[in-house]
Amino acid sequence: MDDRRRITEAPGIGKKSSEDLHTLGVSTLQDMISLRPRAYDDRREERRARDASIDDSSISCRITILGHSEFSSKGGRTLKVTSIDDDGTRIELLCFNRYFLKTQLKISSQWYIYGKVMKNRGVYQISSFEIKRTKEEAGIGRILPVYPLSGSLTEKIMRNAVSYSLRALSPIPDELPQSMYDRENLLHHEKAYNLIHFPGTMEEARNALSTLAFTELFLMELSVLREKQDGGRRKSSPTENEKKLMDSLPFSLTEDQLKAAEEIREDMDSPFQMNRLLQGDVGSGKTLVAWLTALHAIGKGRQVAFMAPTELLARQHADGAAELLSPLGVRIAFITGSVKGERRRLLLNSLKEGSTDLVIGTHALFSEDVTFRNLGFVIIDEQHRFGVQQREALTRKGNKADILSMTATPIPRSLALTLFADYSVSVLRAMPKGRIPIKTYLVSESKRDEMYKSVGVEFQRGHQAYFVYPRIDDEGEGDLRDVTTMYEFLRRKYPDVPSKLIHSRLPDDEKMKILHDFREKKLGYLVATSVIEVGIDVPDATCIVIEHAERFGLAALHQLRGRVGRSSLPSYCFLVYGPGLTEEAKARLRVMKETNDGFRIAEKDLEIRGPGEMTGDKQSGFLHLKFANLTSDIALVERAREEAERIIREDRGLLKAENAVLREAMAMMQKDR
Ligand code: ADP
Ligand code: MG
Repeated sequence: MDDRRRITEAPGIGKKSSEDLHTLGVSTLQDMISLRPRAYDDRREERRARDASIDDSSISCRITILGHSEFSSKGGRTLKVTSIDDDGTRIELLCFNRYFLKTQLKISSQWYIYGKVMKNRGVYQISSFEIKRTKEEAGIGRILPVYPLSGSLTEKIMRNAVSYSLRALSPIPDELPQSMYDRENLLHHEKAYNLIHFPGTMEEARNALSTLAFTELFLMELSVLREKQDGGRRKSSPTENEKKLMDSLPFSLTEDQLKAAEEIREDMDSPFQMNRLLQGDVGSGKTLVAWLTALHAIGKGRQVAFMAPTELLARQHADGAAELLSPLGVRIAFITGSVKGERRRLLLNSLKEGSTDLVIGTHALFSEDVTFRNLGFVIIDEQHRFGVQQREALTRKGNKADILSMTATPIPRSLALTLFADYSVSVLRAMPKGRIPIKTYLVSESKRDEMYKSVGVEFQRGHQAYFVYPRIDDEGEGDLRDVTTMYEFLRRKYPDVPSKLIHSRLPDDEKMKILHDFREKKLGYLVATSVIEVGIDVPDATCIVIEHAERFGLAALHQLRGRVGRSSLPSYCFLVYGPGLTEEAKARLRVMKETNDGFRIAEKDLEIRGPGEMTGDKQSGFLHLKFANLTSDIALVERAREEAERIIREDRGLLKAENAVLREAMAMMQKDR
């Protein structure tokens, strides 16, 4: 098949419409048939006005014209055509901007009409309709595709262009090895392309979509798997400073941490640019892997940038780095939007000259004025908190820098591999030794007092706590009265324990000061909104009380709970819920009580909510899939991946005759990149 044939060869596609098609991503005939209908118009059954009143309100039937009249509307005089359908029901056609219909719709002539009717004072009226001489022209008896449109395009132009392209490209060759069609129960491609546009039944449309989505996922997975193993990996060993850091720690690294560090080191020492995702549950110790590998990069004479999603977190990391890395001679700088004036100038200069090895900050690190002498390694903490654009800006600044993205959003591995198709993935599955699983209690109103007592006991032991309230709106905390009243209440409850209220409306310096004091144990507890959700690490905090727990999603609850249980002390999470829980809220709380395992929770989250919200369309957006939907086609993703793995196992080089189609497809994908 010649897939370079331009869409302009289709009749009816001129300069303007081809430009409009271009904005939909269509420039060739092949693109045209690969444009997925966004919906279908099911006109299989004739529906008269009387049927329309029963379920949906569209009609598709024959009408006979009775007469013409006019009425005045905003646009001036408007034509009204009166007609009856074969039941004898009266239908009025309001022809806005279509005065020309007067001469066409002659009295007593018969037409086929399609559109939505509305009942107005007992009379059926229709203002947006298609009207045709024959049943075929009106699409009655068929299922018609509905496409996304742009500019001058109409559904009619689109349908004609698709029909033409299907005919012109026929016979459309298969895109997969023959044995796969049977094994995976797929339609052959000629059929799939025809049926996705012009199905006889809705089931045919679904089968066609499933074949095309599978093909797309499979080819993507195959290309990812092939590239992954092509990299020139070689063993590399830790530098002196890395060994020193490991020796200086009061604990040893987990197997998973060691393995991840090794994978990153190998990537760094290979000639290819690294793009790696470090996935690990809350508290699994990702930061240490970051510092260790930062030392590796610095040891090889490169600069390192570490980006955190909030100023608070950046500060915490800067403190941590100062403690662990400064003794090894690493020169550290801290840059956020609030670092200004002379201080900023000096810092920027030191980055430019290379007299800073490691810079820690927020996304302000990647503003225009920041330049590096030799940026070689970029670490992004909590990468899911950053938008695609921010990540892209950073990649541009990094140029050829290796990138390590860290995330605690535990998504099932197969989904991770697909969502992050162009990343390699390292996983910290096991928690550091000596951690005691957090005990989680569900607390109803009547059990409050007991809870306050338990927290009081922890204070006596010298441990610390968080009290958390839900954020009320997306902008900030909305109504803060709850938090402030609770704050007063708790101060009376624990009169000897110093505490502070912390929320996003406080200035950054103040938040940082409070957090610093909490870490230094000058404060016994914090009363907080979900500002503390991300990444805060205070080992002696052993209790977290989450109020209105039913209002939080599973991922947020898990993140919040992850603020405790970060040392070898036993720790507790109290989920306080109000009356009148929905089934879904109950299910969430039960999951939290049952397990501490973020991966398990993610799977449950998938079950309860469906994958769409969990991954967020933003994340899958950058893959530009035409047919597949990563958030609803999980089963297909899995199947495609298994098939791709099978091919890699059986015929890596794609040398078998049967796999020749794949060899070609892979070559095309390379070219497109
Ligand atoms: P996260 O993966 O959530 O970012 P952190 O990197 O903040 O977790 O680590 C959580 C805590 O665990 C930190 O206080 C860190 O010092 C500690 N930690 C990290 N690795 C280990 C280990 N191997 N053994 C014991 N504690 C560890
Ligand atoms: Mg972290």
